[in-house]
Amino acid sequence: MKGFKFIAGAVCPSCGDIDSIVLKNDDSEIRCVSCKYLKMKGDEFDKKENNIIESIKIIND
Ligand SMILES: [Zn+2]
Repeated sequence: MKGFKFIAGAVCPSCGDIDSIVLKNDDSEIRCVSCKYLKMKGDEFDKKENNIIESIKIIND
């Protein structure tokens, strides 16, 4: 997927697939390549989705 990077170990909150979550290069949105899950960064994240954001931060460190 052009303009997106895979987040290793991230679990999709919608379909539960592992390693299917991609983050847009400008960090503005999160997508799942296995289902149609899409989350804009401006949206409010629930607890499960916050775990994905946390794992993204860990990987970026
Ligand atoms: Zn999914």
